Amino acid sequence: MRPFTYARPTSIDGIHAVQSATGARILAGGTTLYDLMKLGIETPGHLVDVTSIAGLDEIRSHQDELIFGALVTMSDASAHPAVLQRAPVLAESLSKAASQQLRNMATLAGNLLQRTRCAYFRNGPEYPCNKRMPGSGCAALDGLDRGHALFGGSRSCIAVYPGDWAVALAALDATVDVHGSRGMRTLEVANLHRLPGDTPHLETVLEPDEMILNIRVPVGRLGQASTYHKIRDRESYAFALVSAAVALELDDGMVRQARIALGGVATRPWRVPAAEAALAGQRLDRAAALEAGRVAFADARPGLHNGFKVALGTAAVADALMIAAERSPSR
Ligand code: SF4
Repeated sequence: MRPFTYARPTSIDGIHAVQSATGARILAGGTTLYDLMKLGIETPGHLVDVTSIAGLDEIRSHQDELIFGALVTMSDASAHPAVLQRAPVLAESLSKAASQQLRNMATLAGNLLQRTRCAYFRNGPEYPCNKRMPGSGCAALDGLDRGHALFGGSRSCIAVYPGDWAVALAALDATVDVHGSRGMRTLEVANLHRLPGDTPHLETVLEPDEMILNIRVPVGRLGQASTYHKIRDRESYAFALVSAAVALELDDGMVRQARIALGGVATRPWRVPAAEAALAGQRLDRAAALEAGRVAFADARPGLHNGFKVALGTAAVADALMIAAERSPSR
């Protein structure tokens, strides 16, 4: 591991003072950053520990929105009564991720910014990887792509965005408050992550001196009738092969609004507006749910080993829709 310096500011302004150092990285729960430093993928010259900033570890439940501070842990958010009742899709996306020990440490903002689990990216410089070493190529394109993307890939990178929480947030049209040296701005979570294009090493639209302070989630009837359905190789401590975050507003069995986002299959959290539109005005039964799943995966571009995700994902969307419908106050 390369040597690095360390600072622990106690205010937002203090963060920017030390974050301007070359090669600085923000440290919160550390569950991703330490991991990548040990692998030699992240080599920061300076760590800015933000865990002493007051007020960023609170959850606030207002009439129309839930607000999560950046430093709230995954386990605290997933167990919060307002989250469980008003937006089960959020609680489930967190409780189905990682292990209990990791959830106790990992923060919500850090979780949003986690990096891909592509084995070529993580396992050393002997494999070409444009994300790890820009311009070196992509070993996955002609290699083992079982866990790689069906949507949003490019000739430079087909790595899946691995998170669950961001997928649930995208389904609910969540936003993040971001603070940098030029002040505050608000970003939609669905637009926080970049498509890889020719620059897969650039993963978000955040500037180097920006930090997420809050995550805001509008909630109402859409949040209540929601679920995060995750299919994985084993039932705990595994990343999604396919996942579907679904939120519904039903009126006597008819769909007034549907929101669907996919995880485990795309280079960033992936909303499927065509599937949402296909459901609008429909009576939600199993046939309509399966048709929405087929529409959701109609534009999938499988590689050599990941074509099985199309059928799996179609069924996952259908199952998620039926689970969410059961939670609707107006079925
Ligand atoms: Fe690297 Fe992306 Fe290719 Fe994986 S898919 S080897 S992360 S460039």
